Amino acid sequence: MHPVTESEIRSSFVNASRREATQAPVPPSLDQVDWDSRDFLGWVDPKAPRRAYAVVPTAEGLVGLLLRTAQTTGHRPAICTWCEDVKATEDVVLYVAKRSGSSGRNGNTVGTLVHADLSCSGHARRRPTRAEGAGDPDAFVARRVAGLRERTVRFAERVRDAT
Ligand SMILES: [Zn+2]
Repeated sequence: MHPVTESEIRSSFVNASRREATQAPVPPSLDQVDWDSRDFLGWVDPKAPRRAYAVVPTAEGLVGLLLRTAQTTGHRPAICTWCEDVKATEDVVLYVAKRSGSSGRNGNTVGTLVHADLSCSGHARRRPTRAEGAGDPDAFVARRVAGLRERTVRFAERVRDAT
């Protein structure tokens, strides 16, 4: 993705109040992010680990999402719906996003199982196992990266385009 600035992040949120957008703990080292290997920017609130943020580039601009995890009592392995990595199935949690606008104010949410630390860009870029297509690892990674982008955009649009 293209590099984004703190003010671009703050103005991208589609399901946060003005106060939440202002107070969001934006990652401190944006100038050190390897943007070429990120399909979206995701981070967990260091002071409130059940709260996380994802900023997704879409055709109509950046869409910033405020995410929350339900209180869980230990989680079971699951496949992340964003990167769909069949190997990294630990630490996948149910994240819920309030939908934007009046729909969200009426309590409507969208939920999805995602890596708790939002490390999906890394998982999508891992080298394939022999069974997964070691013959053409670059094609394997390219396909997974494209899939991750498509699914994060679709999720962001579902949150944003709530009616
Ligand atoms: Zn993932």
